[in-house]
Amino acid sequence: MRDCSVSKRFYKRARRVFPDGTTRVTVEARPQPTYVARGDGAYLIDVDGRRFLDLNNNFTTLIHGHGFVPVVKAVTAALAGGTCFANPTDSEIALAELLTGRIPAAERIRFVNSGTEAVMFAIKAARAFTGRPGVARIEGAYHGAYDWAEAGQGNAPATWGPAHRPSARPAYRGTPKSVGDDVVICRFNDVAGAESAISAAADRLGCILIDPMPSRAGLLHPDPGFLEMLMRVARKFDILIVADEVLNLRQGFEGACARHGLAPDLIALGKIIGGGFPIGAIAGRKEIMTVFSSLHGRPALPQGGTFSANPISMIAGRVAMEAMTRAKFEELDGFGEQLRQGMRAAITRRNAAFCISGEASLFRIHPRPTIPVDFRQAYLSAEGAATMQRLTAFFHERAILLPNAAAACLSTAMTQGDIEKIVDTFDEFLDVL
Ligand code: PMP
Repeated sequence: MRDCSVSKRFYKRARRVFPDGTTRVTVEARPQPTYVARGDGAYLIDVDGRRFLDLNNNFTTLIHGHGFVPVVKAVTAALAGGTCFANPTDSEIALAELLTGRIPAAERIRFVNSGTEAVMFAIKAARAFTGRPGVARIEGAYHGAYDWAEAGQGNAPATWGPAHRPSARPAYRGTPKSVGDDVVICRFNDVAGAESAISAAADRLGCILIDPMPSRAGLLHPDPGFLEMLMRVARKFDILIVADEVLNLRQGFEGACARHGLAPDLIALGKIIGGGFPIGAIAGRKEIMTVFSSLHGRPALPQGGTFSANPISMIAGRVAMEAMTRAKFEELDGFGEQLRQGMRAAITRRNAAFCISGEASLFRIHPRPTIPVDFRQAYLSAEGAATMQRLTAFFHERAILLPNAAAACLSTAMTQGDIEKIVDTFDEFLDVL
């Protein structure tokens, strides 16, 4: 075990000021978090001087890795001129032009500060447009912390309810019970079940909230028939489709919906579009996005935000996204494919009880022999969780940060050698298992 005395010291201080010593539930902290001193491309260096290959990239945000030079230069040049204003700037128009130029569903756009906010405003926009409050969503998918986006999130199997009728009860104690009245939970790729649940609640549904490859629910492929059904039912009942591409926009130049054949009405964005700075965005069809417009009086849905569209996030986002050309996406996809195939070959060779899901620059390792069909199967049993902890600890010992039970991702800063190192480390793990 390598020395981590500085991280230990930091964690001791942190426990005196934060409820559990961390500021985010998602920070892995056993026995203590790895405190970062700085990032360097595909790597990060911790406060004890260890250098790790980073497969987390701040929860898939940093598509270019750490300290991407064009972003550093552009942001450095902008900083002295002010970081936020109550006035608009050219930088927000430039990022908006880039995104609406690429993403088919994005005819108009509004910027916010996080994916949570983006999903929240997309749901509110759907409500304002349709006049209906309800949200149909996929069991186990993560969409941030808005009550209606997280009800029925399924943190403990005891709360899931029967498979044919998953529970929509609010995720956390003390949340108004009424939140659950306006949420319908559908199981991923369950065409008949989801169609019947949505149809039964259609008169109170404003939107179907769908991430085409929900990472927390397993990072599983959507069946084309499932997405087609959602679009058909949405059209039939005038329900809007809200796509959550906060994470999955990194699946391609036009995003994940375009890749998987989903045509949403509204789309929530975040993560990579901020170039490493806080951001979120709501985009969608022009007609629907008029709910935010004050051109003809008070908007149906006023939307602001003190730091929304701050020039630093806008500039960093534009520079990072400009560097993600179609060719760059293809190159990164190639690395992703090579990585998944390499891991699958290792699994087959060693006849190991693992499988790999994912697409483009994303992958997830499952401690089971076959790809799960949905969240319930992807959910880790105590035994599965222990196996994944051993796996992440093994990677950590070999200087690779692998997210535990979540989507791992590549960055453009990675090299062929990095991909081989990841596959070899996985192979070695299977060997010693
Ligand atoms: N939606 C999805 C699909 C996400 O992955 C996340 C964050 N992991 C969010 C929404 C929330 O984004 P944020 O953390 O920026 O609030």
